[in-house]
Amino acid sequence: MNDEKKLATILATTGVARDEAFGSVAPPIGLSTTFRWQDHRKPPRYDYARKETPNREELAACLAKLEGAERGVITASGMAAIDLCLNLVGPGDLVLAPHDCYGGTHRLLTHKARRGLFDILFADLSDPEARDAAFALKPKLAYLETPSNPLMRVTDLAACTQKARAAGCLTVADNTFLSPVLQNPIALGCDLVVHSTTKFISGHSDVVGGAVLAAKRDLGDELAWWANCTGVTGPAFDSWLTLRGVRTLKVRVEEQQRTAERLARFLEADERIARVHYPGLESHPQHALAKRQQKGFGSMLSAELRDGLSLPKFLEALTIPTLAESLGGFETLVCVPDTMTHAGMEEQARREAGITPGLLRFSIGLEDASDLQDDLAKALSAAQL
Ligand SMILES: *Cc1c(COP(=O)(O)O)cnc(C)c1O
Repeated sequence: MNDEKKLATILATTGVARDEAFGSVAPPIGLSTTFRWQDHRKPPRYDYARKETPNREELAACLAKLEGAERGVITASGMAAIDLCLNLVGPGDLVLAPHDCYGGTHRLLTHKARRGLFDILFADLSDPEARDAAFALKPKLAYLETPSNPLMRVTDLAACTQKARAAGCLTVADNTFLSPVLQNPIALGCDLVVHSTTKFISGHSDVVGGAVLAAKRDLGDELAWWANCTGVTGPAFDSWLTLRGVRTLKVRVEEQQRTAERLARFLEADERIARVHYPGLESHPQHALAKRQQKGFGSMLSAELRDGLSLPKFLEALTIPTLAESLGGFETLVCVPDTMTHAGMEEQARREAGITPGLLRFSIGLEDASDLQDDLAKALSAAQL
């Protein structure tokens, strides 16, 4: 478990002043693809960069510590991290996943299952009855994602891992939306945590990456073996950039969350908004669970404009948030999941997951909260015209 001080200290100290050659305080970048052997019978600590590099190893160690994991594996993207975990299942194994998981994950699982690489069951894992029925089918791997994207449904991780353990099922939690600052799935019994480090971890919208953090070393070693075998490990420079970004994770996440909560309350109080999805609101159906399971409510929220308001006019009138996919950066982004992030899902699956054409998703950044609120207010007025 990470107490607060520990997490902040890990962020500020990992890799600092470790350079033996020149005494650099900031970690150097090592771009070499190959490493010298002293003895042809004894592999050196690093031999070939697909397998391991100092920068990847440093980032993996940092993220593993943040998540309370014994071993971390860094990948070229979040999708590569998720795909890496799928090496743990084979034909005939059942994989369980949320019906409203990240669009790219839904696409990956659907298409790999169609090839017969495993069977897939999408279920509403935030609903206890549907969850228990799904675990009764004895899945081999349960992929969990909470809060969900884009509707911010909360899944009870401890209840899932308890069911999974009884069924001999591995659990993987996608912790991208909250980051280790606000949620620690391993402490709730999960075997693996995945991150799209592209989002909050790197935090500056300038590097794509992923990570898998394993509660137990054996499982982490197995995934590191697969990562080298399949070549999904990412460039050293990307790991260096990501470690540079993650240093400010705690202060970014806390500030962004403060603004998000204010804006969620502001939008909820506005009659031109039909619904706001944010776990920090008392009106959120799983507010109590979120409060128990998370250390905060995060900076992602979604909202639906009332019928009759113009979504294009709303978007056009915004001057601070940028209309773009992705999330977790320093800047506020808005997107329309139906035609953007979740367009890769089939339409019926989108509707079943509750993604409507009028749904807006916000990733709240580090801008001044009152500037953002004013901007939203003006855009709502423009949407009425
Ligand atoms: C972005 C994202 C992914 C995929 O990560 P990439 O780095 O884009 O490959 C997976 N899960 C969630 C929740 C995400 O937001």
